Amino acid sequence: MKKLIGPFTQILTLSGLATKGPLNDGQLEVITAGGMLIENGLILQTGRFDRLHAAHPDVKVEEVTGENVLLPGFIDCHTHLCFAGNRAKDYSLRIQGETYLEIAKAGGGIWDSVTQTRQADDATLVQLLQQRVARHFSEGVTTIEVKSGYGLDLPNELKQLRAIQTVAKDSAADLVATCLAAHLRPKDFNGSSAAYLEHIVQHLLPLVKREGLASRVDIFIEQSAFSSAEALPYLLKAKAMGFQLTVHADQFTTGGLQTAIEAGAVSADHLEASTSNEITLLKDSETVAVVLPGASLGLGMQYAPARKLLDAGACLAIASDWNPGSAPMGDLLMQAAVMSAAEKISAAEVFAGLCFRAASALNLKDRGIIAPGMQADIQAYPCADYREILYHQGKMKPQTVWKSGQNSHKNIPD
Ligand SMILES: [Zn+2]
Repeated sequence: MKKLIGPFTQILTLSGLATKGPLNDGQLEVITAGGMLIENGLILQTGRFDRLHAAHPDVKVEEVTGENVLLPGFIDCHTHLCFAGNRAKDYSLRIQGETYLEIAKAGGGIWDSVTQTRQADDATLVQLLQQRVARHFSEGVTTIEVKSGYGLDLPNELKQLRAIQTVAKDSAADLVATCLAAHLRPKDFNGSSAAYLEHIVQHLLPLVKREGLASRVDIFIEQSAFSSAEALPYLLKAKAMGFQLTVHADQFTTGGLQTAIEAGAVSADHLEASTSNEITLLKDSETVAVVLPGASLGLGMQYAPARKLLDAGACLAIASDWNPGSAPMGDLLMQAAVMSAAEKISAAEVFAGLCFRAASALNLKDRGIIAPGMQADIQAYPCADYREILYHQGKMKPQTVWKSGQNSHKNIPD
């Protein structure tokens, strides 16, 4: 059944923008006094609300009151939302001056979250994930990537991926699962890092494939995790099994990005340590650069070179990296807004990075732009001009979020 939603003071469609490279706000298509015609969860048409209404006088109208700016729903293409416990102790040590790598060596870090997540039963893990997904959705995130990687053995990686599958069945947001069994060599694995990765290829990935638990594989390439030499054969084997690839690359030291590109990864994420050499490699590839300002905020370190990446012609997506260690805040818009002020990223580049360029990082072609045929995943902010959204640095939240045209959340009741 058709439905007309509106009127919106502005609709920011993000239509017609380049998939890579710099963007300026003058390129943004803004429809004023706009409406959106929806059918079967897809966008049928956008335009002036009064004209759409006149052309479709019998259609059901979902009226929007007050000032409203409509955007595509955000796509958070990198999160670790499926975890138990917290790492407040690590955080406290970090703000007392210890580094991430020092804390990891001393038994904190990812291994601490592995221990806490292994201890949680299925129902607890599902409930924790449901709560975080619901919060993210209420903040305008209509598609959420979720990684495993706090199990690090067969039963616990499967427990995490099955929890993601369970939550995905009835959550308002779409979830995209990624297998990150290669987050860290588990301390209790009896063998080398290379042997652990081979163990994953032989025993876990076939089960993940058989149960349809994830179509993507990720690895953390870093001094504290896996080397490029260990990662490349792992990535190529996963690719040969039909998985799409993504890589935690260049967070503290370089090397990961080059490996991601060599393996043909869809995205390379982090890039805080990337220099002009790595940026040159990236711009000539099809790999999407995903920057994670929440991790820079949590670790008190520099942002990834987002401006340089855009100027070099990269496709730049922005994600939250929401995780219990380095990025506990999980507020995607706030993180993007704060980074945009520091890195000089225009509103057009920020919204592209949160919407259609983030969709590219997940290889999704049906969302992230307000255009006919796209999923009607949309969100409305209580303001008259889209520029107010970043101006409030993430404090202004959407008052309504729609998934596939369904208004499933209202922060402010009618
Ligand atoms: Zn991450």
